[in-house]
Amino acid sequence: MTPAKILISACLLGHAVRYDGKGKPLCHPAIDRWREEGRLVTICPELAGGMSVPRPPAEIENGMTGADVLAGRARVVEITGGDVTEEFVAGAHRALEFAQANGCTHALLIDGSPSCGSGFIYDGSFGGNRHAGNGVTAALLAKAGITVCSDRQVDELEALIGAT
Ligand code: SF4
Repeated sequence: MTPAKILISACLLGHAVRYDGKGKPLCHPAIDRWREEGRLVTICPELAGGMSVPRPPAEIENGMTGADVLAGRARVVEITGGDVTEEFVAGAHRALEFAQANGCTHALLIDGSPSCGSGFIYDGSFGGNRHAGNGVTAALLAKAGITVCSDRQVDELEALIGAT
């Protein structure tokens, strides 16, 4: 059986791709093992959508979610007022294409991001207010049948993929 492939947020592997020019490396023995086994497929959806580093922080407006953005009901806006909806949607589609081209059945994405968040995102006020919901990429991947786990769910992901 082909080992399960996992799409992973580039910043979780320490790549300096976040809005603030930093990474957010996650240390977990399963991630080291998956890397050695060649299971990890790395992408930063925001860079894939044309954003640069550093960039202003962005949130999905009005307490909406990634699904709302994909449906055209909400925008992604920067703290400086810029509308980056098009870039975030493009990045989500590039991430899905990349995941499918590489046979990814699962994704491990960092929580809280307007792209990669899967457990929570921020409400668009830039006041640090969280609410449950997916970012744009996480929503598109889940809609396509890819199992999305957050960086707080590595153990769950390990159990899900088991020995595959
Ligand atoms: S889009 Fe995802 S991979 Fe890129 S910096 Fe944000 S959380 Fe990390």
